[in-house]
Amino acid sequence: MRYSQMFIPTVREIPADAETVSHQLMIRAGLIRKLASGIYTYLPLGLRVIKKVEQIIREEMNRAGAQELVMPVVQPAELWKESGRWEHYGKELLRFRDRKDSEYCLAPTHEEVITDLVRNEVKSYRQLPLNLYQIQTKFRDEMRPRFGVIRCREFVMKDAYSFDIDEEGAELSYRKMFDAYQRIFTRCGLRFRAVEADTGSIGGSFSHEFLVMAETGEDEMVYCDRCGYAANMEKAETIRPEEAKESKELKPLEEVFTPNVKTIEEVCQFLQVSPQDVVKTLVYMADGRPVAVLIRGDEEVNEIKVKNLLGCDTLEMATDEEIIKYAGSHRGFVGPIGLKCRMMADFSLWGRTNLVVGANREDYHIKNANYPRDFDLKEFHDLRFIHEGDPCPRCGAQINFARGIEVGHVFKLGTKYSRAMRAVYLDRNGQEKYMIMGCYGIGVGRVVAACIEQHHDDGGIIWPISLAPFHVIITPVNVRERALNEAAEKIYQSCIDLGLEALLDDRDERAGVKFNDADLIGIPFRITVGPKKVAEGKVEIKHRLDGRVDVVPIEAAASYCQKAVFAV
Ligand SMILES: [Zn+2]
Repeated sequence: MRYSQMFIPTVREIPADAETVSHQLMIRAGLIRKLASGIYTYLPLGLRVIKKVEQIIREEMNRAGAQELVMPVVQPAELWKESGRWEHYGKELLRFRDRKDSEYCLAPTHEEVITDLVRNEVKSYRQLPLNLYQIQTKFRDEMRPRFGVIRCREFVMKDAYSFDIDEEGAELSYRKMFDAYQRIFTRCGLRFRAVEADTGSIGGSFSHEFLVMAETGEDEMVYCDRCGYAANMEKAETIRPEEAKESKELKPLEEVFTPNVKTIEEVCQFLQVSPQDVVKTLVYMADGRPVAVLIRGDEEVNEIKVKNLLGCDTLEMATDEEIIKYAGSHRGFVGPIGLKCRMMADFSLWGRTNLVVGANREDYHIKNANYPRDFDLKEFHDLRFIHEGDPCPRCGAQINFARGIEVGHVFKLGTKYSRAMRAVYLDRNGQEKYMIMGCYGIGVGRVVAACIEQHHDDGGIIWPISLAPFHVIITPVNVRERALNEAAEKIYQSCIDLGLEALLDDRDERAGVKFNDADLIGIPFRITVGPKKVAEGKVEIKHRLDGRVDVVPIEAAASYCQKAVFAV
């Protein structure tokens, strides 16, 4: 391609509304433009990168035995009602009506449509296993779109769905996708980690997120250097502490007048105790039934863990009226003694004695509360968020934290959708069985943004060769000099002949402008065609990655780049 004919609107200034480097550089390098909040156009250069990512994904998915198809973006409400997600998906699901007043949505994901397709076409175990994927547009009406294409509303995603006859097959399908993802992200030049994750609104039994290491990432990951355990923040397990060796003397209960003292901080200040000595008692309604979660004053309840433990559909904080009903007092004075509902405690309270608790009486707290002496507490679980430095749940070494951008997610769904939508097959014995499903997503635009987060410098993007929109840019420093033009044209033709994707910067611009643009758009090799070197029959080849410059004969420039590009 000739630069003069290509639409690459680069920008010198950093866009005001772009917080992250990848967002700034995608706009500055002319990869994307914003149309509306969270909705972007990919310009020609950006689309070339997207196509590179898609091609890598396609090759690895096909290699893993998955087959490509394309499903519609517009989907009828009926299918979503069948799976139950029409009610549960929330406002991220953009719903609308057509001219006949039928309800539709814009697909945020395709479990319903693929399950419908497969249940209609697959009848026998002989037709399974099956893994189908697409690379297609999704829409999720995010509350707060940000970071450019990282958290946007309309985006291209690769989503794959596997159907198996048994658990063993489903696990093999999951493993294949897991391995394919490792290859995909490695080929995209990313440093990443696969972490254990919660299954969230997709549902199912277990899952892994693929997080690209980046300081600007929205996701916090938890990992252990010793044993390799890795999980996201919601999922990371904490363990029960060891029982204290020396037994503390249990002091007598003492009710204390604590007027208007409600928060943990206020309690600690008023009673001159540390938060570790205070019990936070939170009353939740789980599918309409009350449950109290007790946790040490310095810890936070991880509601996802509570929800998973209870296996409930909804978990909400109890209202003021409900708290009065079960505790007999207002929020802030709730405690376990005499509380009329199921109680469970986080491991952080394991073995702790002489605790401060709410008295279930307005303006009172109780000191020296001890279980089982003063209240019945049998259930201890992992219900809190992990901290950096906590022991690893697998090996006990210290846990580390890092930030990352989620680029992929694999789920073992089990029979969640096949049960809801009756996707069954006949087994060897003619018995009807539910298909066992998995689903596997990759955010294509996110891969591009995450790659830029990891590969850039002050001058701009530094593309890995696998994703670069062009391998080589040929830059004659002055297009008005015939000798330079001729040399540049010759090299350009040779590059094309050798199968390189080459961009000839034939613009009548100052050399500095061209060099800056070449750095900004991040092309791996720049062949500089300047008067001094050309007079000697040579050109300079600059490596974008490390700034190294090699001088080679004009005739050898293209093959030099070819070797470097295809050696990777
Ligand atoms: Zn470990």
